Amino acid sequence: MKLMPIKEALAGKRVVMVDDSIVRGTTTGQIVKMLFDAGAADVHVRITAPPITHPCFYGIDMADQSQLVAAHLSVEQIRTLIGATSLGYLSIDGLSRAVGLNRDQFCLACFDGKYPIPIPNQVKMSKFALELPLAEAR
Ligand code: SF4
Repeated sequence: MKLMPIKEALAGKRVVMVDDSIVRGTTTGQIVKMLFDAGAADVHVRITAPPITHPCFYGIDMADQSQLVAAHLSVEQIRTLIGATSLGYLSIDGLSRAVGLNRDQFCLACFDGKYPIPIPNQVKMSKFALELPLAEAR
């Protein structure tokens, strides 16, 4: 409901859609389809973060690894999944340059799996224990 493509602005245009992340890929795919349905000739998706391949155990509520699309598919496979003309992510080095900090100055665990503070196995196992598997939740 919050996204209202304006056909007059999109019809026949080559569109670049910028988003902050792709987690499961379902929402991005719906937006790409919406833009094509509104008449866009191309939809080029650019993500302002590297691919999310690992879950966060430090407080950000995100899907477990089995649901993270970039944990299982290549960039080209994700492009096909979301139906975009092209797909590009910011690299980890690009992210570092964009924020003006060295990559060892902040957590990158959801992008590279290197957790700066070790995650006890019990935490790994319990974080998602109360969540229904995706298929059951639908
Ligand atoms: S960068 Fe670190 S703290 Fe931030 S969401 Fe990713 S894993 Fe969590």
